[in-house]
Amino acid sequence: MFNIVIFGAPGSGKGTQSENLIAKYGLFHISTGDVLRDHIKRGTELGKIADGYIKQGQLIPDELMVSILAQVLDSNAEAKKGVIFDGFPRTIPQAKALKTMLAERGAVVNAVVGLEVDDAELIDRLIKRGKESGRSDDNLETIKKRLDVYHNQTSPLRDFYIGEGCYKAIEGVGSIDEIFGRIAAALDPLYNA
Ligand code: AMP
Repeated sequence: MFNIVIFGAPGSGKGTQSENLIAKYGLFHISTGDVLRDHIKRGTELGKIADGYIKQGQLIPDELMVSILAQVLDSNAEAKKGVIFDGFPRTIPQAKALKTMLAERGAVVNAVVGLEVDDAELIDRLIKRGKESGRSDDNLETIKKRLDVYHNQTSPLRDFYIGEGCYKAIEGVGSIDEIFGRIAAALDPLYNA
């Protein structure tokens, strides 16, 4: 199992680069944001709960998020070959839960691809995306809250994964192909090892 966490602030390019990662490494992709938006669209109980948090730019509580992730992992046989975790973990408790979940399956996080982009560029990108995405959280007020949440709750994971020895810092600015070139250069030696 080759497991990658694609990590970075909202607007750092996680979704875009996940598509390139799927194409190159053929791994199973789990975007927790997409999973939640699908529940909202289908009007499930979970979707109703998630909608309130997402509109406010807040994180879904850890316990709920971890159980959703475990369910997605268990119900998809393709996840056994390896997973691109996109948008998860977002807190230290989620990272610890992921470590345990993978250990139970005899696996680890092999690499964390950390897309590093400054806030001014992120805001610019998210406002542009909001004009097309129709996402309830791509407006200036919610974007600022999501960046605060990122800096307070999610960015400490960078140090956590540096400590685990698997963090790969990637400059997330430039063309999509340039950025993917940097990602592949960091992952290829691990993937082919
Ligand atoms: P994303 O599509 O990854 O930007 O996620 C959109 C929103 O979904 C976030 O702002 C959170 O409200 C929620 N969300 C997605 N993933 C998580 C997670 N791992 N933990 C908590 N909330 C999440």
